[in-house]
Amino acid sequence: MTENTPTPITIARGDGIGPEIMDATLEVLQASGANLAYEEIQIGESVYKRGIMNGMEPSAWESLRRTKVFLKAPITTPQGGGYKSLNVTIRGALGLFANIRPCVSYHPFVSTKHPKMDVVIVRENEEDLYAGIEYRQTQEVTQAVKLISRPGSEKIIRYAFEYARANHRNKVTAFVKDNIMKISDGLFHRVFDEIAAEYPDIEHETMIIDIGAARLADTPEHFDVIVTLNLYGDIISDIAAQITGSVGLAGSSNIGDQCAMFEAIHGSAPTIAGKGIANPSGLILASVMMLVHIGQAQAAEKIHNAWLKMVEDGIHTVDIFKRGVSKARVGTRDFAQNLIDRLGERPTTLTPASYQVGEKASFAGIALKELPPVRKVQVGVDVFVDHKGGNGDDMAARIQPLVGQGLKLAMISNRGQKVWPEGAPETFCTDHWRLRLLADGKDTVAPAEVVSLLGRFAESGLDVVQTASLYTFDGAAGYSVAAGQ
Ligand code: NAD
Repeated sequence: MTENTPTPITIARGDGIGPEIMDATLEVLQASGANLAYEEIQIGESVYKRGIMNGMEPSAWESLRRTKVFLKAPITTPQGGGYKSLNVTIRGALGLFANIRPCVSYHPFVSTKHPKMDVVIVRENEEDLYAGIEYRQTQEVTQAVKLISRPGSEKIIRYAFEYARANHRNKVTAFVKDNIMKISDGLFHRVFDEIAAEYPDIEHETMIIDIGAARLADTPEHFDVIVTLNLYGDIISDIAAQITGSVGLAGSSNIGDQCAMFEAIHGSAPTIAGKGIANPSGLILASVMMLVHIGQAQAAEKIHNAWLKMVEDGIHTVDIFKRGVSKARVGTRDFAQNLIDRLGERPTTLTPASYQVGEKASFAGIALKELPPVRKVQVGVDVFVDHKGGNGDDMAARIQPLVGQGLKLAMISNRGQKVWPEGAPETFCTDHWRLRLLADGKDTVAPAEVVSLLGRFAESGLDVVQTASLYTFDGAAGYSVAAGQ
């Protein structure tokens, strides 16, 4: 490739307001002198309707693997019916582990209660409840599995600190809920503390997500970079973008070791689709992030500064238009044209954007720590059964005659609340029981003992819906205790 060879990128116009904001973005990119060659793919509703359950044709995947850069407009995910979210599928399949969402206030030009806000949310993008592993196990009870891994946590947390260092940011805050999820969120918290210690130049703190989200909504100027798990990050970044003035303002990047995807953080806004009034800023700012990622810093800077100038000039779409603050209310196309007219200009009050050629925009290829070997020992098994009626004592009376032979019944819980021994009579019980069986008079449980126990359960007519092995790791329990235990 010569210096003048256009960089191939894959684009998708998406659904709802997607085509309108993509057209506006492409016009701006074209006028900015960005050197790009587009491969367009079809994604979203039309593809789902053809029966492709993940919303994307095989040929589209080939384009993404070829270009490794994807500028994507929002799509509409059909609800229910077995359809998988295309966004989740793309992020997982292409290993786009880091979702970067800058949320900035443009005071006094865009009306906001938070004039000093400049927060970057670094959201883990591949794990958590978004693994989409869900079950209906009984008539009454459903389950979603939350997966948090050590490598996943290490990658996103290190990414957040590297991002902070490269972008001259001073503090990284982790949001977790490890007062409740001590093992999964607890792992994220521990890894955060470990990695933070390697960045003494950057301040760090941890907050429980509920109070963290409240403080973010109330005092966003307290925060600089926030790193968090997938679901929390999804929720707080919409809050953060909205309180800057509009969810339509924020762009985001999804970065992996090999590929990257750039998109607005908002969805397809079906209620305003086709009206020509959508704010294209989210996708335009995502395209700025994309230009920095592919090394076209000059075009990125030009577009970003023209965009800031336009915000200053009060040329606003309806979502940020405010009488007395804004000067003109424009539709999507006029917004793009006004931006193009300002290419080459810089803001006079807001801080101009500045990007360097070769600037490190993403930190893929993060090395993972070598973990020492660990001694993993099975010490028991949790057996979940479907049974309607009765209380913990009734269930224990039914189970006790079936145990023995190396395992003893240690506890029964219902929806995580201990109901035996010494359950509270007030506890409401569903048809989903957890029986905790531990090694009896010895340190470990053999798989054959568990199989034999399950055989006895089945013969007695118990409906076993799930089992979970209980392990210790170097002697520490790898399972939670029940509430009330
Ligand atoms: P949404 O973000 O589409 O809309 C939320 C609100 O913000 C609406 O009032 C909408 O009119 C407004 N809004 C959003 N973008 C705007 C813009 N650019 N300019 C002006 N106003 C804007 O969220 P939703 O309504 O919950 O979801 C609609 C669809 O989008 C759903 O099918 C959802 O699955 C999908 N979605 C897709 C993505 C994506 O493709 N990355 C992300 C989120 C939601």
